[in-house]
Order: sequence, then structure tokens, then C-alpha cells
Amino acid sequence: MSHRKIERLCIVCRKRKSKEELMRIVRTPEGLVKIDSLKKLPGRGAYVCNSIECINKLKKENSLNYALRTKINKEELIKIKKELEDLLERGDVKGESI
Ligand SMILES: [Zn+2]
Repeated sequence: MSHRKIERLCIVCRKRKSKEELMRIVRTPEGLVKIDSLKKLPGRGAYVCNSIECINKLKKENSLNYALRTKINKEELIKIKKELEDLLERGDVKGESI
């Protein structure tokens, strides 16, 4: 099977979904937090649904810091949220499965 379903947990709504339904945020070995649109970067990853509801809630909660075992500040969080929104808007959220 080439399309093995790997279920991941959305850090906001705590629902299990396949990778295609989630966006990946990664903390790289260098300590940078960024959006991993191809879902291939090394490092600790966190997943959020391809949905504006979950992206919006990400702003208010510390779930990302917890999931990535890091401490990102409010500015960084807003930047990440914006990038997720842009990805969602472009529909470019399926990564390697395109
Ligand atoms: Zn979610």
C-alpha cells in the first residue's frame, strides 16, 4: 500500500486524523519553529487540523509550546498562525500527497 494512513493528533481539538487532514509545525534541531508544509523536516513535530477553527484556537492556547517542548513568544505564534492561514487559503496543505 503506497498510501498508508498514519493517524496524528491535532494539538488543538485532540482529534485523530490522517496526515492529509493536518498541517505540521516543526521545531528543527536548530531550535527554529516553522511550518513544515511538505511534512518532511526533521525535528519534533506538532499537528493542527486544516481548519480555521483550530488555527484560531492555536493563538490563544499554549498547546504549541507544550507539544514542541519550547517557548515561542506571542509574535512568533502570530507569524506561525498567519503562515498556517496562508497555506490553508492557498489550499496547499496536502504536502507530499499532491
Ligand atoms: Zn483540530
